[in-house]
Amino acid sequence: MHSPAAAPQPIARNARLPAPIDRLAGRLTNRLIRATPWQLIDVPTRKPIVSFTFDDVPDTALRSGATILEAHSVRGTFYIAGGLEGRIEADRTLIDAAGCRELVARGHEIGCHTYGHQDLRHVDRSFLAADLACNARYLDAIDPRRSRRNFAYPYNSGCLGKRPMLAHAYRSCRAGGEAINRGPTDPTFLRAVEIRQSEAHVRGLTRWIDALVADPGWLIFFTHDISPTPTPYGCTPAAFARLVGHAVERGCCVLTIDAALDRMGFRERTQ
Ligand SMILES: [Zn+2]
Repeated sequence: MHSPAAAPQPIARNARLPAPIDRLAGRLTNRLIRATPWQLIDVPTRKPIVSFTFDDVPDTALRSGATILEAHSVRGTFYIAGGLEGRIEADRTLIDAAGCRELVARGHEIGCHTYGHQDLRHVDRSFLAADLACNARYLDAIDPRRSRRNFAYPYNSGCLGKRPMLAHAYRSCRAGGEAINRGPTDPTFLRAVEIRQSEAHVRGLTRWIDALVADPGWLIFFTHDISPTPTPYGCTPAAFARLVGHAVERGCCVLTIDAALDRMGFRERTQ
C-alpha cells in the first residue's frame, strides 16, 4: 500500500522563469537533447511498428482505450504517475492501483511517469531520485518485474542534467516531438505524436500511419483520456478506434513499447 505522505516534496531548483520564457527554455532544452543523443539504436525499416501510449492515466484510458486495443488483439503502454492515483479533477478521474492491476492482468504494459508529475527542469536531482524511488515502490507493488521499466517525461519536457539518471534507471524514455522514429534513434528521448483535440485533428492522424507504411519506422502515439466528452488532451472512443483500426488494417505491428524494443533486438546499455 502506498502512502501519499511518502511522496517527496518538490525543492525549487531555481526561481521559476515567467511562463512564456520557461516554455521557450523547455523547447530549447528538448532541441539540445535531440542534438546530443545519449545513445543511438537503429530502428529497423522492414515492417512499420506502431505503439499506443497513455500518460497519467485517466480511468477512461482503461475503460475505453484498453478495451479498444484489445478488440484489435493488441496492447498498449500506460505511463503511471503514482502521485495522481485516484485523483478526481474537473474533467477526468485518474485510475487507482486496482485500475493499474487490471491493466497488467489484461496484458498491457505499465511504465513510469514519475510519482509527482513535475517538470523535470523544475526539480533538483535529489528530489527526482526520491520521486522515482517512490514511483518504483508504487509500481512494483502492482506489477513486480526484474527488468527495467520504460519511462515517459511529464509534459514531454527533458532535462539534460538528469538524463544520465534516467538513462540508467529505465529501458527507454519517451518524449514528444511530433515525428516518427526512423533510423538512428535515441532510446532516452523517443519521439511521439500526440492524439489530442480536435476530433477533426484526430481523424487526420491516420496520415501518420500512411506515412509510416510508405517509409517504415516506429510511430509512437500518446494521449490521455478516451471519453465521449474528451479533455483537450484526449479523444473520443470512436476516433481512437478508427486510428487503431487503421494501423491494424494497414499491416502495422502494433506493440507495447517494451515489445517494440524486444522486436528491434534492443539491448540495454549496462554500465
Ligand atoms: Zn503526464
